[in-house]
Amino acid sequence: MSLALYDTWSRAVRPFAPIQPGHVGMYCCGPTVYDHAHIGNLRTYVFEDVLRRALTLNGYTVRHVVNITDVGHLVSDADEGEDKMEKGSRRTGDSAWAIAERYTAAFMADWHALNLLEPSVWCRATGHIAEQIAFIDTLQRKGYVYLTADGLYFDTSKQDDYGYLTRLDHAGLQAGKRVAVGEKRHATDFALWKFSPSDSTRQMEWDSPWGRGFPGWHIECSAMSAKYLSPWFDIHCGGEDHISVHHSNEIAQTQACHGTRLANFWMHGHFLTLDLAKMSKSAGDFVRLQTLIDRGSDPLAYRYLCLTAHYRSSLRFNHEALDAAQSALDRLRKTYSSWPAGGHADAPFVARFNAEVNQDLNLPRALAVLWELVKSDLPAATRRATVDHFDTVLGLRLGEWQTDKVDIPADIAALAEQREKARADRNWAQADHLREVLKAEGWQVEDSASGQRLSPTERAT
Ligand code: AMP
Ligand code: ZN
Repeated sequence: MSLALYDTWSRAVRPFAPIQPGHVGMYCCGPTVYDHAHIGNLRTYVFEDVLRRALTLNGYTVRHVVNITDVGHLVSDADEGEDKMEKGSRRTGDSAWAIAERYTAAFMADWHALNLLEPSVWCRATGHIAEQIAFIDTLQRKGYVYLTADGLYFDTSKQDDYGYLTRLDHAGLQAGKRVAVGEKRHATDFALWKFSPSDSTRQMEWDSPWGRGFPGWHIECSAMSAKYLSPWFDIHCGGEDHISVHHSNEIAQTQACHGTRLANFWMHGHFLTLDLAKMSKSAGDFVRLQTLIDRGSDPLAYRYLCLTAHYRSSLRFNHEALDAAQSALDRLRKTYSSWPAGGHADAPFVARFNAEVNQDLNLPRALAVLWELVKSDLPAATRRATVDHFDTVLGLRLGEWQTDKVDIPADIAALAEQREKARADRNWAQADHLREVLKAEGWQVEDSASGQRLSPTERAT
């Protein structure tokens, strides 16, 4: 098996090889927790989760680091406007710290609902102020920093290859010099440390060698990835919007401080856009996972929808598409749970599925292999075992569906347990009697190789 991934740095799909054999370090830019995540943000995390699962499929041990931006992300990527956290605080009347807490918790809930694997490390910007100050201090000693009235800035003119990731047009920038640069010397320079306003206190501020203030947005990722991975690790991910500013600036900082371009592979998920013409007005243009749940969709149907588009093509969201994903998932669950356990995965199907995954995460094609398998005439137990293998990458929790979906009352569960015991004791008469009792209560029992399965009959639902 060989994995090939698209690398934004080289603008090519190239074979993946880890820096350290057997191990992969992966850093993913996480949420700015001043509001809920929208389903666009979540598409990027689904892509990263599939990538991580694909790496595991290939036998690598993955160290997955995700940051939580709880300070320093200004409203504009050009270092203008307010800090998003302080702005969120003014919007809601709660403290910036309380907001960070609330939206981090909401984000974690979305994360788990989408069956995203737990990262090896979650790290918060506010928990790593000392590391960020030390990083900026090194940059200053190396001559990459200048001071203005409102903060410390990184001088991008010191690097000839600044902006290579985004193929920055330096000549074009010179020509179009009308861009407002404020106190900055060059349009692409960016804040490393911002001073608190002299006439007011901020809710989130810290002392530094340069004055009281807070870190710029980009520095946390350079500092925390160096701490939890190394200044040179395997894969750095984020959404495509990060290429031009955030990731270009992370690279500039790390290049200046450690002499590396941070990650061997740079991978970016393309955007989800809302097809507003096809969506009800009440949904508005800020759609959260909860918005979909309130409409009766399963979070994993949204995950399924994400898998139907390649991560490097944009995905237009509308409710019809989500409903189609929900139907496909329902059909898959129903068929899967009708199959007995105990079979062995079919090697040719596994090889075909893995090959699609390994070709730069071609999940739409991998799903096509899945449906071909479902419709094939292979023994049901073989199909089930093969789908179990596929689901290690798809993450649709097919094996757990039954228990997730059906809420079994305690008295019914107790009867089922007695029946299970009767079956184990080979007391068939008692098992049959209990089946009838359950039926009278509105529950149907199916026996399979993996044990009995309970489902409500019409009466119980
Ligand atoms: P933020 O909370 O704004 O820092 O964004 C969190 C993640 O979501 C980043 O990786 C962004 O690049 C990504 N992102 C933002 N908008 C979208 C979108 N519409 N579709 C896909 N990913 C997005
Ligand atoms: Zn980042």
